[in-house]
Amino acid sequence: MSAFIITDLEYRYAAASVPALQGININLAKGQCLGLIGPNGSGKSTLLSILSGLLTPTSGTVFFSQNDNLTLAKYVQKNVALVPQEYAFYPQLSVTQNLEYFVSLCAFSYAESQTRVETVSHQCQLQEVSNQKAKFLSGGYKRRLNLAIALLKDPQILYLDEPTVGVDPISRGSILSLLSALKNQGKTIVYTSHLLTEVQDICDQIVMLKLGKASYLSLDQGQKCLTIEFAHTLSVSWVEQFSGLSIKVECKDNHLKAYIKSSAELFAMMALLSQSQLDILNMHYDQTSLTQYYLNHMENNDITEY
Ligand code: ADP
Ligand code: MG
Repeated sequence: MSAFIITDLEYRYAAASVPALQGININLAKGQCLGLIGPNGSGKSTLLSILSGLLTPTSGTVFFSQNDNLTLAKYVQKNVALVPQEYAFYPQLSVTQNLEYFVSLCAFSYAESQTRVETVSHQCQLQEVSNQKAKFLSGGYKRRLNLAIALLKDPQILYLDEPTVGVDPISRGSILSLLSALKNQGKTIVYTSHLLTEVQDICDQIVMLKLGKASYLSLDQGQKCLTIEFAHTLSVSWVEQFSGLSIKVECKDNHLKAYIKSSAELFAMMALLSQSQLDILNMHYDQTSLTQYYLNHMENNDITEY
C-alpha cells in the first residue's frame, strides 16, 4: 500500500521566474524509505514543505493513501512529522524542558506524554544530556534533539531535511541506525541529503532533484560491488555455492564480482570466503558507483522523466 502518491507536481514561489519543482511523480510504499538527493537549491526542502502541508502545490496532487476520511491538514497533523533543516527547539531550555514543552502540544494524556518523552530520549540517546541547555549541545546532539521532537507524536511518516549536516561520524552513525530501526517498525521515511553514500543503505527508492526536476534512480545503480582476485582459478563446485545465496555473482577464471545490496549479503559472502580458505590476491569493495553516477548526472543535462 502506498503511503503517498505525488502526481505531476509543480511548485512556483511567488515572483520566481522558474518553478522550484516541476513534473514530480513519486509513489512511496508504506514502510519504505525515500532518499531525496540533490544539490543546494534543487527543491528538496520545497518538496518536504509541500508534503508537510506547509505549501500548496501550484499544480498537481499529493494524495495520502491512509487518509481515514481526515482532511489533508488533519491527516498531516496527526500522522506526519518533519525534522527541519534548521534547529527547531528553544536554545535557552534544557533538552528535557524542550521535550516536555513540545509533547504538551500533542494530544496525549499526562502519563502518555511522560512515556513519549522517555521513549524518544532513549531512541535518540539524549539521556546523558537531558539537563543541558539546548544551546550548549554539540552539533550531533542538537540534530538528535531536533529528531526527538519530531518523534514525540509517534508519526507514521517522518521527513528529515538534511539531518546529518554538521554532525560527527559517531552521531551520524547513530542517527542512521535509528532511522533503520524506525523503518523496521514500519514507519515511512523521506530523507533528504547531499550525501548519496549515506542514504543508499537505508533507502528503497532514490529521487534525484536538479533545478526542480526529478530523475528516478534504480537502486541497482547503487548496489556495491565486491571484486576479488584469487591466486587460483575458481572451481565450479565452489562457484555453485553462490546459487544458494540471492546475490548476483559473476565469476571468470580467478576473478569474482558480487553485487551486494545489504550488509547482511556482504557478511554472507565473507562467511563463504572464509570457509573456502582460498588465497586472495586483491579485494575491492566499491561504494563509489552511485556517487559517480550522481556526479555524472549533475554535470550533464540528462534529466529523465518518469
Ligand atoms: P534545497 O532544499 O534542495 O536546497 P529549496 O527547496 O530550498 O532547495 O529551494 C529550491 C529553489 O526555490 C531555490 O532556487 C530557492 O532559491 C527557491 N526558494 C526556496 N525558498 C524560497 C522562497 N521562500 N521564496 C522564493 N524562492 C525560494
Ligand atoms: Mg534544503
